[in-house]
Amino acid sequence: MNSTRTRIAMPFALFSIAAMVAFGQQPAGRGPGFGPPGPPPKLTKVKDDLYLVENQAAKMSDLAVYGGNLTIYLTDAGVLLVDSKFERVHDDIVQKIKSLTDKPVKYLVLTHNHSDHSAGAAKFEAEGAQVVISTEDRDNLARAANQTWLPSLSYQGRAQIVLGGKEVVLRELRGHTSGDTVVYFPSDRVVCAGDLVTLPWEDIPLIVNYGDGGNWTDWSKSIAELLMMDFDVLIPGHGPAINKQQLTELHNKMVKVMERFRALNRERKSQEEITQTLVREFNWGSGPAGGVIGGMMQELR
Ligand SMILES: [Zn+2]
Repeated sequence: MNSTRTRIAMPFALFSIAAMVAFGQQPAGRGPGFGPPGPPPKLTKVKDDLYLVENQAAKMSDLAVYGGNLTIYLTDAGVLLVDSKFERVHDDIVQKIKSLTDKPVKYLVLTHNHSDHSAGAAKFEAEGAQVVISTEDRDNLARAANQTWLPSLSYQGRAQIVLGGKEVVLRELRGHTSGDTVVYFPSDRVVCAGDLVTLPWEDIPLIVNYGDGGNWTDWSKSIAELLMMDFDVLIPGHGPAINKQQLTELHNKMVKVMERFRALNRERKSQEEITQTLVREFNWGSGPAGGVIGGMMQELR
């Protein structure tokens, strides 16, 4: 399944946003949304057995401190989580879970390796959860500096977890990294997309992480695959839940950006000219997205 993928060598070390925020840095050309964080994340009911722990402000300021979205799935045999946020909100998350059920956390599925989604995972594992990630993103995690912990279970392509008689489907749909996982809950018609979908467009832009083997071409195909899945609610990696129509609109916008990029690149526009054009025409290309323009110039020729 990885035959067509090529890793693009970057001329400089490209940090993920997650790595930057984890180390208290801010991406160059900081866009709107940076500043002091708001109050701690809130619990949102999505379905009777499915809850979202989301930041109160879908802005970089809250992302940097609390991390990405975390999904809680309840079964009679225990809880399955999607992503962990940062470890500093671990106790708050455990309290929120306890307000819903007295069952233990049995599984924690990581959508990808970035710390705003995975840094709290070791603590959940220490408390008894089985952590699962794609093999590709386990490798990405293993390559990260100062990584002291790795999940013990990984998969490629597709996996299924049945907990308390309820089915959860894991699919590897890469793009943001080389092995993004989307988590599908068929009985609820809900899918967690990880950072293949981030919102809102202006504050937490869609970005490829080239350093972790992501690329725009795979990612666009992955969104097309997602659109073929049978869901009503999509929980993104950051920002509020959306429906299928909203994902279609986002996909159309992504494809337009990609086509415009390719045209500008073929006209041999400079990095600065490309950035300015994308900011002007799509309100995209500044802030964290600005850091990936160089990689896109190599990919989208
Ligand atoms: Zn990420």
